[in-house]
Amino acid sequence: MTMRDVLSGLKETNARYSMFHSMTDDVDPGDAKFLFSAKDNLTSKDMETCAGSKILIGYRPAFDAAAISKMRDAGGKLIGKCNMDEFGFGTFSYNSGLEIPRNPYDLERACGGSSGGSACAAAVFEGHVSLGVSTGGSICCPASFCGVYGIAPTYGRVSRYGLIDYGNSLDKIGIISADAGDLRRYIRVIAGKDPRDPTSCVQPELRDEGRKMRSVAVPKEGIEGLSKEVEAAFKESLESLKGMGLDVEYVEMPSLKYAMPAYYVLATSEASTNLARYVGMRYGQQEGDHSLKFDDYFSSFRSEYFGDEAKRRILLGTYTRMAGFRDRYYAKALKVRQVVIRDYKRVLADHDAVLAPTMPFTAPRFDDISKMSALDSYKADYLTVPANIAGTPHMSAPCGYDSNGMPIGMQFVADHWNEEVLFDIAERWQRSFEARRPEVKA
Ligand code: GLN
Repeated sequence: MTMRDVLSGLKETNARYSMFHSMTDDVDPGDAKFLFSAKDNLTSKDMETCAGSKILIGYRPAFDAAAISKMRDAGGKLIGKCNMDEFGFGTFSYNSGLEIPRNPYDLERACGGSSGGSACAAAVFEGHVSLGVSTGGSICCPASFCGVYGIAPTYGRVSRYGLIDYGNSLDKIGIISADAGDLRRYIRVIAGKDPRDPTSCVQPELRDEGRKMRSVAVPKEGIEGLSKEVEAAFKESLESLKGMGLDVEYVEMPSLKYAMPAYYVLATSEASTNLARYVGMRYGQQEGDHSLKFDDYFSSFRSEYFGDEAKRRILLGTYTRMAGFRDRYYAKALKVRQVVIRDYKRVLADHDAVLAPTMPFTAPRFDDISKMSALDSYKADYLTVPANIAGTPHMSAPCGYDSNGMPIGMQFVADHWNEEVLFDIAERWQRSFEARRPEVKA
């Protein structure tokens, strides 16, 4: 498929899969070298940016996010802004105030979240690359559900300038693509210190031929609670990795159990402060009852335009930061974070990566998701959250299919700044694993 074909069929393809909230009208790729899309929490000059929220409808940023402008400078043409959970709050892209993306392998199932639209686009369009964002697993989860590769680099590797914050100490911008080679190619494009984002870092350079992956550690805690089919595919993949010459060793990482509760305290604490700026006066949506007093206007506006999950997280995060509770929740979660980092450092001193399935099950059906409680959905993140609170780079690779043909993924976690071992294993794995493409219709 040529770039022109993709562009001329864009609206029809999107009508089927709902990967984009907004998209380009151009049918001519001009002198673009490649087409790309971006999660809709990255600001873009030429397209509305809503981060999956009704509260931002009508927001047209005056500037491009750093990652988007670097992709454009490298010759990329931005074709669409990807549907997602509102502000990144979710695991299935189902908590969206706008459109919900559909899994390209089965339209009745979710793409995963919160970068669901990005993974969907990467699976549907040939040769496509998409920018995703992970706070607690939002790149690896959808990559796994949609059968593609996804990498969240080390925290601080990529500038967050122009990102609509969820949790500032957790948010990482990364790459989702069906081609493993794109991970190295495009992380190199978007990486680098940026004076506009004080949390971006001076960093070791990423090379063409970097360190190779030779050994992985499989934590006992990472293979508990899996569906039978995920467990079987994972075991088979371990055998293939051994066949490729990797050492595989089982280890214990007791801290992993505490990462999920700690994550939801940290993430909601940060989210609740970030959402304070949406009051119907500055960005996007302003349709409220303007005759009300300030406070009444703010609360009626926020009641109307925030979704349920955003409200839940404001309540949770405000509570965990409150005087009297802060030490019990927020300060304690910060300590757990240090324990998780120490556990990774201990294991990664002897191994190149920690390996486990990415998600405990495959993409669920929308009717099953609608019956899940918020806690059920938080619990589904126990495998992706630990690397995210540690700020360590992590990558999901497709590793099998269940009996319904839904993709299964495995997640490699490397030490800080060690993305090169992830690129290496992704490229080698792609040559040996027989990936199936979804049957794509417009
Ligand atoms: N599912 C997790 C959450 O809801 C992670 C989402 C993310 O990484 N943005 O917070």
